[in-house]
Amino acid sequence: VGNGRDVDVVVVGGGIGGLANALALTRKGLRVRVLEQAHEFGEVGAGLQIAPNCTRILDRWGLLDEVTSLGVLPESIVMRDAIDGEVLTRLDLRDVERRYGFPYLVIHRSDLHGTLLRACRRAGVDLVNDVTVTGYEQAADGAVAVHAGGRERGAVVLAADGLRSVARRLLSDDEPVSSAYVAYRGAVPFEQVARLDVQPKDVVVHVGPRCHFVQYALRHGEMFNQVAVFESPKALAGEEDWGTPDELDAAFTATSEQVRAGLPLMWRDRWWRMFDRDPIDDWVRGRVALTGDAAHPPLQYLAQGAVMAIEDAWVLSEHVARLTGPAGGPTGGPTGGTTGVDWDGALAAYNAVRPLHCRRVLTTARAWGRLWHHDGERREWRNAVLRERDVHDYAYVDWLFGPTALTPGELPPMFPGYDGEPALA
Ligand code: FAD
Repeated sequence: VGNGRDVDVVVVGGGIGGLANALALTRKGLRVRVLEQAHEFGEVGAGLQIAPNCTRILDRWGLLDEVTSLGVLPESIVMRDAIDGEVLTRLDLRDVERRYGFPYLVIHRSDLHGTLLRACRRAGVDLVNDVTVTGYEQAADGAVAVHAGGRERGAVVLAADGLRSVARRLLSDDEPVSSAYVAYRGAVPFEQVARLDVQPKDVVVHVGPRCHFVQYALRHGEMFNQVAVFESPKALAGEEDWGTPDELDAAFTATSEQVRAGLPLMWRDRWWRMFDRDPIDDWVRGRVALTGDAAHPPLQYLAQGAVMAIEDAWVLSEHVARLTGPAGGPTGGPTGGTTGVDWDGALAAYNAVRPLHCRRVLTTARAWGRLWHHDGERREWRNAVLRERDVHDYAYVDWLFGPTALTPGELPPMFPGYDGEPALA
């Protein structure tokens, strides 16, 4: 398929993670083919928050100006109680940019995906649609992705095939874990919210009992994005048909005027049931490696899913560059193949650091979700703790927003109290 030429790397899946890997490795001089099952490359959904640990990498790839021009640089992230509307705490994003050296931005998913796609095209990535990979095989000095129309061989096959990854079965028999929460999204022209009490310069997160509501402007403030998330009683009761619009309406009846005013603007014809997976600590089997949501699908509460996928790509490509010798030469060694990359070394270095970091993100995201959704006395305790937080205390985000670690030794310390399962909830 594709241009028919031999490639060094086959990437399965052309979402944000797959394209980021393809771009990062092409920038290191490798030939990459992306196999995407859909008829076209694209993204569904609305906004993405992109933290400084990701804008730092986009800058290294020369994409930060483009992404900034398409997105919005909000001034603050504000957390409010969803019932009484009280402001509980905030992150000053101008100060965040000063501290971490790179901005926190929000962008339409299709704009970030489109930026990566255009960069892949410019770099000469072989982008192939309508190919569904059904299996993987190891080969001498490489691996093979198998699909109905044939077999694609590379020195490495990277599986960026998302939450329901086929490749993950090589490493684990786990299944996606349902949180019983569901997300509704809605991105509308800003005029539709202009008369409402919205803060166009902030990302606002309203946290409430078993629900939360996120609001922020997109595309230079021309669009307004909202996400409504709630626990589905029907999911808890084991019913098949859960997360339906009647449940959306019921979940937010007790919330503040600001939240209820935004709800009629949600798309009601589709919704996203929220799944993650338990962390796994080994993402590499021979010359097949997992990346992005295939390796570490999170609950979205830390807004780090796409960010982690881009970090994966950067980390692997840096190790590849470090372990590339002359073709067939000493660094390439007997396993280096024609490109001279010590693939086993690069994959081992990747596998030593990324699962550790992503495990922390996955477990913290679950705990963060529990904290957001407290009711009763726990809600009051949470609000008291958040009210006390110094706006410029970064203990809870330093480990996320700082430079991405290339080795376990560079992993930043976690926030106080973390001992593998965060003590937040
Ligand atoms: P996917 O986007 O799932 O892409 C997988 C690709 O592989 C798809 O194109 C699919 O068609 C293709 N594919 C699958 N199987 C095959 C196959 N067998 N053969 C060929 N192709 C295949 N992240 C953030 O960083 N910030 C946020 O603010 C944020 N907000 C979120 C809000 C919500 C409501 C949700 C649900 C998620 C959010 N995320 C956020 C997470 C983020 O969207 C994902 O982590 C990210 O998009 C994962 O990218 P991926 O490329 O790994 O996987």
